[in-house]
Amino acid sequence: MLIVMKKEVSSEQIEQLLSHFKKQRIETHLMKTDNRVVIEFNNDKGNVDRKQLLVFAGVEKVIDLKEPFKLVNQKPAEEDTVIEVNNISIGGEHPVIIAGPCSVESEKQIIETAWVVKERGAHILRGGAFKPRTSPYSFQGLREKGLQYLYKAKQETGLPIITEVVDTEDVPYVEEHVDILQIGSRNMQNYELLKAVGLSNKPVLLKRSMSAKLTEFLLSAEYIMSKGNEEVILCERGIRTFADHSRNTLDLSIVPAIKQVTHLPIIVDPSHGTGRSDLVEPMSMAALAAGAHGLMIEVHPNPQKSFSDANQALNPQQFSHLIRKAQHFIEWRKAYANPSPAY
Ligand code: PEP
Ligand code: MN
Repeated sequence: MLIVMKKEVSSEQIEQLLSHFKKQRIETHLMKTDNRVVIEFNNDKGNVDRKQLLVFAGVEKVIDLKEPFKLVNQKPAEEDTVIEVNNISIGGEHPVIIAGPCSVESEKQIIETAWVVKERGAHILRGGAFKPRTSPYSFQGLREKGLQYLYKAKQETGLPIITEVVDTEDVPYVEEHVDILQIGSRNMQNYELLKAVGLSNKPVLLKRSMSAKLTEFLLSAEYIMSKGNEEVILCERGIRTFADHSRNTLDLSIVPAIKQVTHLPIIVDPSHGTGRSDLVEPMSMAALAAGAHGLMIEVHPNPQKSFSDANQALNPQQFSHLIRKAQHFIEWRKAYANPSPAY
């Protein structure tokens, strides 16, 4: 196992950790890379609890070299992945805002929504053309036509676009038109689809399935990366629990937890995560506070008339309010991002 210390770690904090190991008679090896101190030790007997080590002051992450993933896991002293999409960075210090309707409903609707979200500060336009619906009788999306309307909205507004791909056969057509391919939660373990987007040269946004553990989520990302596509963005969108006050339970603790394990960016979708428009703004702020690299928000010019997910869509005024508030949160986050050694 490797313990990667924070950049600003003090010698007392390193000493404290080394003496903890000494007391347990565990041999350690201290390494100094360009900008980090890394402590290596052998946990063959399984007597060291990774989570316990994370509580020590000065520890940034603990890497288990026996973890089942090779490509998604954090490497010591390497910077996190930043994905560039049309001059927008996903994974850097500044959170990315992806916004738009649940479904592309018409040319007019998607172009109007694109302007609404762009004027209020969104960086990327979302909109489902191929919709994976729980019921076969619900609106299934405009498919190729929807994709063409989405593409038109990109041409008019200049916003890059993301849409979901649900079938391996559709990948070539969809990747030709969009800037980011989305894998929906229902397809997180559709391994053939993961392999197909793994061969694409477009970034992939991978949504966590409603029952996936952290390791399963990362192994799905590993599937994509193992085919050569290194540009994977993770997305937490809520999991199934017994709580019934919201559509799903937005599991925000996965954000800091997954950042300790992977170099990939992670964004949060509070729209599907709560299913309630009144909960989207507070949970967006909570996601930013938890360290998310961005947000994906459903916005509709007239939510009541939405073909899908009407209860969770924000109207333009609600989206404006969210963005203004998010800007304050982002400033606050920057101020606390790099605590001084004494902090
Ligand atoms: C979506 O983003 O349109 C969607 C269907 O989300 P999820 O896969 O998270 O349900
Ligand atoms: Mn939706």
